[in-house]
Amino acid sequence: MSDIIDRLEPIIVDSTIKARGTSVTKRRRRNPTKPSAKWIAPARIGNEVGVALAVVLGTIGCSHARGDSGGCTMCSYLLDGDERSPTTDELLQQFDDALSDLADESTPLSVKIYTSGSFFDTTEIPADVRTKILARIAKDERIQEVVIESRPEYVTPEFMRETRDVLGSRRIELGIGLESSNDAVRSICINKGFNLGTFKDSVATAKEYDIGVRAYVLLKPPFLTERDALLDAIKTIEEAARLGVSTVSMNPINIQKYTLVERLWRKEQYRPPWLWTVLSVLRDAWNKVGSSVNILCDPVAAGKPRGAHNCGSCDESITSAIREFSIHQDVSVFDSLDCDCKRQWHHVLNHEDISLLIHSRNRRKQVGKA
Ligand code: SF4
Ligand SMILES: [Zn+2]
Repeated sequence: MSDIIDRLEPIIVDSTIKARGTSVTKRRRRNPTKPSAKWIAPARIGNEVGVALAVVLGTIGCSHARGDSGGCTMCSYLLDGDERSPTTDELLQQFDDALSDLADESTPLSVKIYTSGSFFDTTEIPADVRTKILARIAKDERIQEVVIESRPEYVTPEFMRETRDVLGSRRIELGIGLESSNDAVRSICINKGFNLGTFKDSVATAKEYDIGVRAYVLLKPPFLTERDALLDAIKTIEEAARLGVSTVSMNPINIQKYTLVERLWRKEQYRPPWLWTVLSVLRDAWNKVGSSVNILCDPVAAGKPRGAHNCGSCDESITSAIREFSIHQDVSVFDSLDCDCKRQWHHVLNHEDISLLIHSRNRRKQVGKA
C-alpha cells in the first residue's frame, strides 16, 4: 500500500497546486487589525450548554498550503490570510476585537482560536503573541474551555506545558485535522501531509498535560463513493475514540474555491455528501462510541449545492436535527426524519460502485474505438 501511496502522492500534489493556480497572488488586502472571521453560537461545553466565541485570526496562512505540497485537496483557507505577516500588535488587536464580543455573555464560555492554519506554528503566530493571547484568556474566569487549532507536527511538549501553565485548570482542547484514520485516504484523497503515527504522537503529548484533542473528521473526501465515505468516517471516529481523543468534530465537505475538490465538482466528478449520510454516520458512530466522546457536526453550506445536501425539501429539517444532536448528544432527534429522497440515497449507496465501474469501462471502450 505504501508503494501505491508513494506513486500517487506526486500526482495529487501536482493537481492540488494546479487547482490553486494563481489564486494566492490575488488575495485581497485585508484590514490586519480585524480577524478574518468571528462568530458566537450556543455550544456544548463539557457537559453543559454555553456560548462559544470562534475567532479566525488573519495570519500569513497555513504552512502546508503555503509550501510546495499545495495544501489539502478541499481547503482554500489560505485565501483568507494575508500576503504579509501581521505585526504583533495587529494580531493582538484582532484577538481583542473578537474577545470584546463576549462582554455581555455569562459563564460557561468557550473560546475557539482558529488561524486557517496552526496557532502553534511560530511563522503564523509569533511566540510573544501566543503567550499574550493565552494570558488574556487566563484573566477571564468566565472562559471555561479553550479550543486551539493546530497541525499535529507543532504539538510539542514545550508548547503544551506553556498552554497548560497559563490557562490553569480550564478544559483545553486542540483541534487537529485527522480527517481519516486511513493513511491512503488521508494522503491520496486529502493530501494532508502527515501519517497516523504523527497524529497519535500529538494526542499522547497533549494528554501528558491533560489537554484533550478534538479530532476533525472529514466526510466524503474526493475519489470515494458515498458508501465508502460513510464507512471511512465511522471507522475514523471509532479509531479516534480508541486513541483517546476527547471530542470528534465531523466536517462534511463543502466546496471551497480554487481547490482540487472544486475542479472535480465542476466536472461533475464529485458531489458533496448527502445529509442522510451525515445523519447516518453520526447515529452509527454515536451508538458505537458516544459514551466516550462527544461527537459534533455543524455542516457548512448545508442544503446548498456546495455543501452536504439532499433533495431540497428535507434539507432544513435534517440540518437542524444535526445541530440539535451536536448540542445535546441525543440521537433520538433523528428518529422521526423521513423523505422520499431517502430511497434515492439508498440507491446511491447500493449501486454507485457498480455504476462507476460500468461507466468507466464504457468510456475506456469508446476511447479505444476513437
Ligand atoms: S485543511 Fe488545515 S492543514 Fe489542510 S491546508 Fe487547510 S488549514 Fe492547512
Ligand atoms: Zn428529501
